[in-house]
Amino acid sequence: MQLTKTDFIQYLNCPKSLWLLKSAPDEYPHGEFSVFLQKLTREGYEVERYVRRFFERSVGRNVDFQRAFEAADGLYARADALEELGGGGTALYEIKSSTSVKTDDAHNHIKDACFQVICAERAGQQINSVSLVHLNGKYERMGDIDPEELLVFEDVTERVREIESDTAIEMDQALELLREIELDRSGCSCLHKSRGNHCDTFALFNPAIPNPSIYSLPRLSAKKRAELIANGIFDLLAIPDDYALTANQTGVVQAAKSGAPIINLEGIRAFLAAFSFPLYFLDYETYASAVPLLDRTSPHKHFPVQYSLHVLHADGALEHYEYLEREARLPDRLAAQLNADISSEGSIVSWHASFERTQNKEMARLFPEYAAFLTDLNERMADLEEVFKANYVDARFDGSTSIKKVLPVICPELSYKEFDVQDGATAMDAWQKMIASNGDEANRMARNLLSYCKLDTFAMVEIYRFLSKLAAM
Ligand code: SF4
Repeated sequence: MQLTKTDFIQYLNCPKSLWLLKSAPDEYPHGEFSVFLQKLTREGYEVERYVRRFFERSVGRNVDFQRAFEAADGLYARADALEELGGGGTALYEIKSSTSVKTDDAHNHIKDACFQVICAERAGQQINSVSLVHLNGKYERMGDIDPEELLVFEDVTERVREIESDTAIEMDQALELLREIELDRSGCSCLHKSRGNHCDTFALFNPAIPNPSIYSLPRLSAKKRAELIANGIFDLLAIPDDYALTANQTGVVQAAKSGAPIINLEGIRAFLAAFSFPLYFLDYETYASAVPLLDRTSPHKHFPVQYSLHVLHADGALEHYEYLEREARLPDRLAAQLNADISSEGSIVSWHASFERTQNKEMARLFPEYAAFLTDLNERMADLEEVFKANYVDARFDGSTSIKKVLPVICPELSYKEFDVQDGATAMDAWQKMIASNGDEANRMARNLLSYCKLDTFAMVEIYRFLSKLAAM
C-alpha cells in the first residue's frame, strides 16, 4: 500500500485514523473535502506559479516541478520543485502558502520536507539541499506581483537531516501499520484531548461516550479532563455536584442535569442596559488569499467585501441595509455606504465582535477619510456573544458560543441549512467565484451571499429580542 506525505501527516496525528482511511475506507466517516481545504490546495498551486516565475527569471537554472518518486517499499512523493545544481547535486524545494515555517503539532513543515527527502532518496534520487519556500507576511502588493518580494526561501537542510533518522523510523512504522489486516478499535488516544483535537472517527472508536459529554465543557483543563476520565466519568450527568469547575463549566453541567438553560437574568439585564437605540446589528464577510489579490493587501490579510445591517428602533421598527462589492476592489465603496447607513447615535451589535473591530481598524488604515467614523463604530460596539459566555448557558450549545450553535437552540425556526453559503469559508469561496463570473451565474452567487449575510444579522436581532423578553420578566 502507498504512503504519501498527506498519509504520513495523518499517521503522525493519529495512526488509527490513517489505518481506517486506507484499510477500511467504507467505514471511514469522510467529511466533505471542505471548502477551506479546497482553498488551501488552490492557494498552494497559486504560490507554486510564482515560484515557477521566480526560477524562470533566474537565467540558467534547471528546475523541475512535481516530479514523482515511488520507492519500492510503498513511499510516494511529488517534489514541489527540484533543481539540478551545477556541481551535479540536487536541491529540493517544499512550497508552502503560509507566511512562516511551521513546526507545531498540527503542521510541521520540516517533517513534511523530510518525508519528501527520504522518499526521493529511497527512490534513488540523492538530495543535497532542502529549502522551504513560503510567503513574505510583510509583503504588500503594489502593481504586478514581484516573486522576489513575495517569496521567502529558507534553507532547512540541517534541520531536515537532524530529524531524518527518527522520521525514517516513523515512516517505516506507518508502512508497517498499513500492512496490518485488523486493528484494535476499542478507544483511541484522543480521549485525553479536547474536542477540537478529535477527528471525524472519534465517535466510531468511542461509541459509548455520550453527547453532550465532558468534551462539551468549555475550556476544560487537561488535568481536569484526566481526572474525570480516570474516574470513568464521560457523561455530564455523572459529574458530582461538588466537583470543582469554573463558573461557565458548572453552568453547562447544571444545564445538562436540569435539562434547562442556566440563566443569569441580572447579568443579561445589565448587559442590555448598556445598549442605546437605534441598534445596528452589523456583520461583515471578508476575503483573504495567500497571494494578495489587490494592491495594498498582504498575504492572508482579510478585507471586507460585504455587510449586512439590521437597524432596530426603540419602537420595534426594523430596517435592513446591505452592501456587496461585486468587483475585485478594496472596500472604499463599502466604507462610504456604511458611513451613509449608520448614524452617529446608537449601539453597534456584532457577534464575536473582535472580528468586526479588526476589519474597521484595517479599513481606517486604508481609508483615513473614514477613520473617525470607523473608530467611533468600534467604541460603540457590543458583542452579543458575551451573553452566552457568562449569562445564558445551555448544554445544547455543545460547549460553544458560536452563533451557528446558539441560533438553532434559541430560534429553531431560523436555519442556515437551506443556504448554499453556510459559513465564512463558503462565503469567501462564493465571492471569489462571483467576481470571476458574470451574468446569471454572478447574480446567483450574489443572491446567495446576500441571503446568508442577512440571516447572520437577522439571527442577532431575533436573539436580542429573545434576551429582551427574558430581561423584562
Ligand atoms: S479522535 Fe481518535 S481516531 Fe481521531 S485522531 Fe484522535 S486518536 Fe485518532
